[in-house]
Amino acid sequence: MTQFQAPAQKKLKNISLYINGKFVDAEGKETFENLSPFTNEKINVVASGDSSDIDKAVAAAKKAFQGEWGQLKLDERLNYVYKIGDLIEAHSEEIAMLESYDTGLPISQTRKMIARSAKNFRFYADMVKSHLYGEAYQVDDEFINYSVRKPVGVAGLITPWNAPFMLETWKIAPALATGNTVVLKPAEWSPLSANRIAEVIDKAGLPDGVFNVVHGYGETAGAALVKHPDVPLISFTGETTTGSEIMKNGADALKRFSMELGGKSPIIIFDDADMERALDACTWGVFSFNGERCTANSRVYLHEDIADKFIEQLKQRVDNIRVGDPMEPNTQVGPLVHRDHYDNVKGYIELAEKEGCEVYSGHVPEAFNKGNYVAPTLLLNADNRMRVVQEEIFGPVIAVMTFKDEDEVIELANDVRYGLAGYVWTKDIKRGHRVAQAIDAGMLWVNSQNVRDLRTPFGGSKHSGIGREGGFYAFEFYTETQIIHVSVKDHHIPQFGK
Ligand code: NAD
Repeated sequence: MTQFQAPAQKKLKNISLYINGKFVDAEGKETFENLSPFTNEKINVVASGDSSDIDKAVAAAKKAFQGEWGQLKLDERLNYVYKIGDLIEAHSEEIAMLESYDTGLPISQTRKMIARSAKNFRFYADMVKSHLYGEAYQVDDEFINYSVRKPVGVAGLITPWNAPFMLETWKIAPALATGNTVVLKPAEWSPLSANRIAEVIDKAGLPDGVFNVVHGYGETAGAALVKHPDVPLISFTGETTTGSEIMKNGADALKRFSMELGGKSPIIIFDDADMERALDACTWGVFSFNGERCTANSRVYLHEDIADKFIEQLKQRVDNIRVGDPMEPNTQVGPLVHRDHYDNVKGYIELAEKEGCEVYSGHVPEAFNKGNYVAPTLLLNADNRMRVVQEEIFGPVIAVMTFKDEDEVIELANDVRYGLAGYVWTKDIKRGHRVAQAIDAGMLWVNSQNVRDLRTPFGGSKHSGIGREGGFYAFEFYTETQIIHVSVKDHHIPQFGK
């Protein structure tokens, strides 16, 4: 028992919806249970909203947008955004514990995510202050044309369970900073920190209706938000198939979409790479966040000259990774978020064996057999034609393959429907750039693991997404550009019928 287990033993209060500045039950009084990934026992009960709750939340958000929030001075609005960041920081340890308790993500990792969440608010408040501007064009001596950026209205935000608090704040911060109001539909399996963000925003004193949370199922609450005529934009992070369903459902209303979807990202390790650093990056990149990471390097391509040695070292890492209690500071891999997801990941490991892989797994201590633990796993002798190489497993599982030369590995790396991220390891600087640019993916790292710079575009190509988040790219999504053409001279006007 460590000090970090304390919140796990407390009974957490049940979770309500947050609509128009008040914590309320779902109108239909429906609820669902929230389960611990560590024991599979009930943590608490969550209000399950549906279309009538979405209607109320959207009406409140629309009223706030047209009223008090829309009329605030920029500094007043941004002060609220900074304040949310400050409050998250002030409660960061407690939020990190809630997040680990709810999702099974190790506390050492959720602490970093919560620190990043506070940064999201400060970063976007700073960005709006200094970089949200229009353009101006002088046209001879006849016109001055200029653009202004306006908030769009009620932003519908739909988020997954894998890094819930960080991903929610990554959307809420730019939406609010640019002047929109928000209805958030968080994932069913990770409601605790979404409830906490509502409490934080409530404490920050934002006007009623500016921020709303409707918990509930994707097919009911989520779908109602997507179809709602007063919600002009939907920012979605989740599975590719869900993204495509959402786009169909929003098509009639011509919604604006940002789609951050699944991945099956390659890490390519050439024979001249710094092996120790590549090994660190490769293991961290797939086993951190319990492997439930959209940008995970879930396919490794090893140059054939270094493959045997690298695989031996990978096996040692897998043997030594500390699988344990997510509340324990030394734990590196915790339980998966939900039993259904555990079954899914285990199913893929069984499939790998049927498809011809040699499966090499680490160890889950007996004491944790009530939890959704999957040991870190290598799928050796994998092949691009296998489903376990083509499909996103979203757990601590990496497919291991070899290659002979650069052309071959580029072809193999690109031979999946996803295009979120990729990683290239080589000491040859020209080859590093060349291969990175040849990979069909939104984000590449050369000689590095996934290190984020909030100013740079985040997002995927192919089936991994549409649009980008981060830096200026968020402005493209969360604001409407309007162009004003002003005649400053009596320019020529055609005289029809004169
Ligand atoms: P999911 O698609 O099952 O669910 C995501 C959200 O969509 C949930 O809130 C869910 O309730 C909601 N939803 C489901 N059906 C809906 C519908 N018909 N209409 C509206 N909303 C609906 O995804 P998940 O299992 O929660 O998350 C894991 C997935 O997210 C993985 O594929 C992962 O790669 C992806 N992901 C992508 C990124 C990225 O930035 N590209 C980041 C994190 C996670």
